[in-house]
Amino acid sequence: MSSQPAHPTLLIPGPIEFDDAVLQSMSHYSESHVGPAFVATFGETLTQLRQLFQSTDASAQPYIISGSGTLGWDLVAANLVEAGESALVLSTGYFGDAFADCLTTYGADVTKLDGPVGGRPQLPEIEKALSQKKYKILTVTHVDTSTGVLSELKDLTATVKRVSPETLVIVDGVCSVACEEIAFDEWGLDGVVTASQKAIGCPAGLSISFFSGRAMQAFEKRKTPPASYFASMKNWTPIMKNYEAKKPSYFATPSPQLVHALNTALKQILAKPLSERFARHAEVSDKVKKAVQDLGLEVVATKPEDQAHAMTAIYLPENVKIPDILPKLAGKGVVFAGGIHKAIATKYIRFGHMGVSVTDPKRKDIDHALEALKSGLSECGYQKA
Ligand SMILES: *Cc1c(COP(=O)(O)O)cnc(C)c1O
Repeated sequence: MSSQPAHPTLLIPGPIEFDDAVLQSMSHYSESHVGPAFVATFGETLTQLRQLFQSTDASAQPYIISGSGTLGWDLVAANLVEAGESALVLSTGYFGDAFADCLTTYGADVTKLDGPVGGRPQLPEIEKALSQKKYKILTVTHVDTSTGVLSELKDLTATVKRVSPETLVIVDGVCSVACEEIAFDEWGLDGVVTASQKAIGCPAGLSISFFSGRAMQAFEKRKTPPASYFASMKNWTPIMKNYEAKKPSYFATPSPQLVHALNTALKQILAKPLSERFARHAEVSDKVKKAVQDLGLEVVATKPEDQAHAMTAIYLPENVKIPDILPKLAGKGVVFAGGIHKAIATKYIRFGHMGVSVTDPKRKDIDHALEALKSGLSECGYQKA
């Protein structure tokens, strides 16, 4: 039994439900952020990230910085692109568009390739764009949380390396790290930015990122200083290196309690082969997609190969509205999210199925949610045609 007070099950695409041990790690007594005990925990947590990203490349650099997932975009925009340099943004929804906005804010010259609603830009058009102009970075949202569209990374990275080898490949993995396969070294990625509160299953408040040696070199070669003070790699890199070497160091105070929670969450994730975790998310995803289809409903991500494995965006029937269905679900103890993609926002809902809700065999969260969806829709007057 969970030691948490009874509460509706949070099945939105982040924050997600927490494991008791992760939550309890946050009630750690206060300690100095430069004392040996916390420095050891922080350093170990950075090293855990290397395993999470399946990387053994010593020149790759992990970062853990207080902030939300959005801070990862600032880190990329303020350090890896200089004003006037070009960025190619592959967008599959709201979050891809917002990454583009962030890059523009720092003065990048942004070209955006949009997928159709529920789809993604295809390799031939990406290859064409890359051969027409020199891009410093290409960004891709691994799972766009607004649509549940999964982007393919392996062939994409191979294409970039073939057509424009100097372009850095940067992944927004906020809704994919720890639920979708990411082989950082093997695929040749240059950066993945993520956050604590989605599939990692830690409370919100940490920006987590990982950059290749190549990305670090691109940063070193900048002609102008980083365009941010708090999000500056110049300020944070020595701190992260020192912490990982278990040496005290200070630029800005980290959150010891959140780092303890992240350490516990990563210990749990890394206690089993990552491949098992990814397979479990895929298995539950198949079950959810099948249940949605059996209800006569459609998934926003059109093609099966473009469907994320840790969330599902579901089109509502014509006559069922978000303000009707979400409260019905809440009444049954299940919290889903509404839509946020501007073209279809009122027409669909989002179901997050990641972390302990799918990996803990004692929890019946997913079955319960599927039953609630079925009965909730019927109470809203929906009958399968
Ligand atoms: C949630 C999310 C973000 C933003 O993260 P915050 O923690 O809300 O700042 C960025 N990208 C994707 C793909 C997300 O799912």
